[in-house]
Amino acid sequence: MIPVNAYAAHQTNEPLKPYKFERREPGVNDVLIDIDYCGVCHSDLHQVRNEWGGSKFPMVPGHEIVGKVSQVGSGVKKFKVGDLVGVGCMVDSCRHCSSCKEDLEQYCENGFVGTYNGTEKDGKTITQGGYSTKITVSEDFVLKIPANLPLDKAAPLLCAGITTYSPLRHWNVKPGSKVAVMGLGGLGHMAVKLAAAMGAEVTVLSTSLKKKEDATRLGAAKYAVTKDESTFKEYRNYFDLIINTVSAEIDLGKHLGLLARDGSMVLLGIPDKPEAIHAFNLIGGRRSIAGSLIGGIKETQEMLDFCGKHNITSDIELIPMEKINEAYERMLKSDVRYRFVIDIASIK
Ligand code: NAP
Ligand code: ZN
Ligand code: ZN
Repeated sequence: MIPVNAYAAHQTNEPLKPYKFERREPGVNDVLIDIDYCGVCHSDLHQVRNEWGGSKFPMVPGHEIVGKVSQVGSGVKKFKVGDLVGVGCMVDSCRHCSSCKEDLEQYCENGFVGTYNGTEKDGKTITQGGYSTKITVSEDFVLKIPANLPLDKAAPLLCAGITTYSPLRHWNVKPGSKVAVMGLGGLGHMAVKLAAAMGAEVTVLSTSLKKKEDATRLGAAKYAVTKDESTFKEYRNYFDLIINTVSAEIDLGKHLGLLARDGSMVLLGIPDKPEAIHAFNLIGGRRSIAGSLIGGIKETQEMLDFCGKHNITSDIELIPMEKINEAYERMLKSDVRYRFVIDIASIK
């Protein structure tokens, strides 16, 4: 077994603290990765606080992992020692259901194995994430990071990047599409960059005016404040697609009125409580409301290559591990521009 230093939540609502555990030795098809950086996703906070239920403690969060391959199993074909690699939200899946066969492991009908707070296929090992020095992962769930991307700024692509890229592709965003991004946080700022690179006209829908200049710099053509009632008049029936990244409860019905006929709102944010919608909000314009979960491994590699080609990375604030609890509090106040990334060297 391989000893690992990490930070873990030991119980709901307790601050994260240092934790030591062991990773498995790489098997035939496994890659051992020395982790350099790990992004901090709002999902880490939801799970540390058990807001979705079912949290397993001690929990080492983190699913925006980048680092270098330090060892490979004898059957590994895609990677060699020294390669720059990433791991996102999944470390395994059943590999034989129809979703897995179509490269949509995130919708695995038998449940994919989450990078942390999940259970390995042995039915007993609880997975632990990237707020740690090393991770052992099957090569089929490891991604190649394009060499031109700075590693720390590339980390958030592994969740925030793919989670926004996948619906933009699925809903066929192209030059001229009118795309709104609700919530300019980790996911939101990646959605702006990616949709703009796909040629869309991007509008940021934020709760305040504070991020307006940033939105323009990130690639948004327009910016509107959702606390301002005039926004709902000005943009009524306007958008083809709304990418909703908001992590808290809001009045969804009101926002659905911003969709053009046949437009779709895709829910990415996962607030802890359900939200009510009146049928009229959809019927009026043959509108749709949908959801989307991260992206498959093949599409994640496609997204990384797209980011390599367009030089797209995340805007980050690099923090040492011991600042994680403070970072969570700041994330709750939307006080992050736009992703915290942990420098894992600070745990070693
Ligand atoms: P984040 O960085 O905290 O960003 C969330 C943004 O939502 C904030 O920046 C803020 O934007 C807006 N917001 C927060 N509270 C709000 C409120 N009460 N009313 C209106 N807007 C509010 O979080 P993130 O990491 O991007 O994650 C966003 C959500 O997506 C989380 O729920 C996370 O669990 C979920 N998620 C889902 C998937 C998936 O596969 N579907 C993957 C990753 C994460 P403004 O400051 O612009 O108002
Ligand atoms: Zn995430
Ligand atoms: Zn499957």
